[in-house]
Amino acid sequence: MAVSADQLAELVAEVGAENVLLDPASTEAYRFDWCRFPGAGVPCAVVRPRTPAQVQAAVRWAARHGIPIVPRGAGTGLAGGANAIEGGLTISLERMTAIEIDPATRTATVEPGALNVDVKRAAAEHGLFYPPDPSSFEICSIGGNIATNAGGLCCVKYGVTTDYILGLDVVLADGRLITLGGKRVKDVAGLSLMKLFVGSEGTLGIVVGATLRLVPAPPPASTLVALFATVASAADAVVAMGRTLRPSLVEFMDQRAVNIVEDFTAMGLDRSAGGLLIVRSDAPGAAREEEMAAIEAVCTAHGATECYRNDDPAEGEAFLAARRAFFPATEALGSLLVEDVGVPVPRLPELLAGIADIARRHDTDIPVVAHAGDGNTHPNLIFDGGDAGARERAEAAFAEIMALAIALGGTITGEHGVGRAKIGSLAAQLGPDAMDVTRAIKSALDPAGLLNPGAAI
Ligand SMILES: Cc1cc2nc3c(=O)[nH]c(=O)nc-3n(C[C@H](O)[C@H](O)[C@H](O)COP(=O)(O)OP(=O)(O)OC[C@H]3O[C@@H](n4cnc5c(N)ncnc54)[C@H](O)[C@@H]3O)c2cc1C
Repeated sequence: MAVSADQLAELVAEVGAENVLLDPASTEAYRFDWCRFPGAGVPCAVVRPRTPAQVQAAVRWAARHGIPIVPRGAGTGLAGGANAIEGGLTISLERMTAIEIDPATRTATVEPGALNVDVKRAAAEHGLFYPPDPSSFEICSIGGNIATNAGGLCCVKYGVTTDYILGLDVVLADGRLITLGGKRVKDVAGLSLMKLFVGSEGTLGIVVGATLRLVPAPPPASTLVALFATVASAADAVVAMGRTLRPSLVEFMDQRAVNIVEDFTAMGLDRSAGGLLIVRSDAPGAAREEEMAAIEAVCTAHGATECYRNDDPAEGEAFLAARRAFFPATEALGSLLVEDVGVPVPRLPELLAGIADIARRHDTDIPVVAHAGDGNTHPNLIFDGGDAGARERAEAAFAEIMALAIALGGTITGEHGVGRAKIGSLAAQLGPDAMDVTRAIKSALDPAGLLNPGAAI
């Protein structure tokens, strides 16, 4: 439906001209997140509110005229969930960035556009820690993290975003603003509505504020890098660690991933290793020494050819910088389809072997990194976007990897969300009854289907 000039004038009057972008040259930057698949439309306008009341005004305008809405944080999503809809309204929360720390309740009250890194910094000033740490933590927003229930590197010990949400302010599809939870650790009054919005990818409401749980800062961590001759031996070591140990981070890179990162930014990684693990312990005092020795023993028992240990947090960070460079490094090589399939940890070896087989059969370059301790992998499918055959093969491999994860008792998405890229595989994971319940919830909260249609559900 084309939006008329009169309707847009109404939007400008209700939200404020300084908060609305209308010309395509300015809205272009809001069309895509980091996922180009399956494309994006041109929005009729981008609203950049500064207050919850302005979000409400924009939503009411869209509801009145039947115009679809795409909520947007920092646009780092990897599933196309923030990609614009043709003629729709994009609401970017990027200018709502306030952060307030309350050390007495160990909470942070934040606006959705605050970057994850800024929440971490503000908490650290009070000796506190906000654990969820997507690799993109320096560039992604808390609102986006909540909407995707983002994970990250330290979730293996500290959990994911939902574990740190105590309260939410949400603008509903009809423009009402509700407050759920707050600065209290325990609260079981009514249905768990707050958790329903976490991970709902902008399809049930727009998060305009959150109360986050903070924890005391952990002790400094020690880091171990272990090299293995094969992917299988590295994966077996991860499974063994998962049985008895509780490291604060267990990351995996396969040989292709190591080489892509080395080509992109020489970091001195061993290009000949079949698989590489980066494992951390932040256990307090003497317990750290014990845990690191146990981690090293497991790696050696599973055939690690070399182990390097480092107790200096800054040098440990350098290893992680290599792991975090993976996405930018693969982006530089061609078009990308990014997966985040996950399986129960004991099935990790089968998943990694299956992905390698799919890569071979579809003649597609698929380097893999993983938050291995969670069984959550990132196969990045790299292909020549200008070659129709290569694209077709990559899309077939993309679907097959998700089917494999489901067959292994896993998920099509461990942390990035379904977005628009994985929507075709959702029903295969949930099954018809769970899909019915999902649709019923969606239509109860958004009967006109205006909140992020085409994404997540
Ligand atoms: C280099 C790189 C590394 C990454 N590593 C990780 C990782 O380790 N773990 C991980 O989980 N993710 C990772 N991601 C993916 C991405 O950063 C996360 O999904 C992040 O949570 C998205 O936040 P954002 O602010 O960019 O949201 P956006 O991309 O803007 O939006 C993401 C989704 O949330 C919705 N949304 C955004 N804000 C709101 C709001 N206020 N209310 C309602 N809905 C909203 C959007 O509609 C969309 O569906 C990575 C991305 C990149 C580019």
